[in-house]
Amino acid sequence: MKPIETVDKCTTCSTCVAYCPVTRATRAFKGPKLTGPSSERFRLFDETGGGEISEIEALDYCSNCKNCDIACPSGVKISTLNMLARADWCRKHKPPLRDWVLAHGRALGKLARRFPNWMVRLGSTNALSRLLLDKFGVDRRAPMPVFAERSFSEWMEAHNAGLSPTERRNLTKKAVFFPGCFVNDYDPQTGQDLVFLLEKAGYEVIVPDFQCCGVPLVANGFFDEAKAAAEANLAALVPHVASGDVPVLTVCPSCQLMLKQEYGEFFPDAPGLSAVVPHVQDACEFLIGLLESGELELDLREDATKLIYHAPCHLRAQGTGKPGLELLRMAEAHVEDARAGCCGISGSYGFKKEKYDVAATVGAELFQAVKDS
Ligand code: SF4
Ligand code: SF4
Repeated sequence: MKPIETVDKCTTCSTCVAYCPVTRATRAFKGPKLTGPSSERFRLFDETGGGEISEIEALDYCSNCKNCDIACPSGVKISTLNMLARADWCRKHKPPLRDWVLAHGRALGKLARRFPNWMVRLGSTNALSRLLLDKFGVDRRAPMPVFAERSFSEWMEAHNAGLSPTERRNLTKKAVFFPGCFVNDYDPQTGQDLVFLLEKAGYEVIVPDFQCCGVPLVANGFFDEAKAAAEANLAALVPHVASGDVPVLTVCPSCQLMLKQEYGEFFPDAPGLSAVVPHVQDACEFLIGLLESGELELDLREDATKLIYHAPCHLRAQGTGKPGLELLRMAEAHVEDARAGCCGISGSYGFKKEKYDVAATVGAELFQAVKDS
């Protein structure tokens, strides 16, 4: 069912309002029921093309966390309606440069790797540049993620080139890994760890020529660019899944949500969608399957380190449980489930100057749980 067709399923019960963390944090946001299905009815009747949303500021407060969708008993695609309405508005009103920068992490990563890493780290964390960034609209209190010296894709290329003929012969099965921008540009180690485990289980890991999944592009109003990225990603994945039972693994819940669910909601006519979507799987879920089937064995070690696990909203929105937590427990880690709702950051949302306080209020319960642990 198309998101727009879910509008009339709304019974105005207000459950979504009770579950929206941003509504609880600020009165500037009118809440999911009003900005979603209720406003959509007016937008549908607007004969000028449904685009002139007078209250974009209120709509803009939606962080696309999807807690409303999780809670709605009628299956209304509230957050998707919000993002589609924002996309319409942004086609007519260009988003600010700050939002362009926040939406294009990979381009920034490529640029950052042209300079020595120490220079990039210093440039993104020292007081003067934080002050300048603050003037630019990136709140100086928001901790900046640091670009990795070498991207995951670069590491992967070198890793594949270094495999011996015997090692290659042992990789008899295939798995596709979609790393996404975060692993590629900020956290390659997580991708490297996954490759290590998959190869240990006899999988050849294929990393397609990928683009950003599109989540930050949609959230910041670059919808048409997100569509082009989705089409490019699907085109890159189709040849790999066409050859049979090949999983497309992700470690980022937002990439996974986008590939598995939101491509179909935002870009239902994208070529390759039906071929790729059934193959998309959480990497932790896949690893659990390998452990259960005996294809992978872990060398378990006694480790008294206590961990706290936070289930991101974009994972909970998929209704697939908490495979990361389950995997840690299978590895006999001492891990506690934070059960503390939304972190507030929602990708680039919490970095924005006008949203930082809202994000900090939303995430307060989680921050406290982490401190207590
Ligand atoms: S929870 Fe669903 S049905 Fe209830 S008000 Fe929100 S959108 Fe409408
Ligand atoms: S996506 Fe999140 S912030 Fe947006 S309306 Fe739904 S619950 Fe609220």
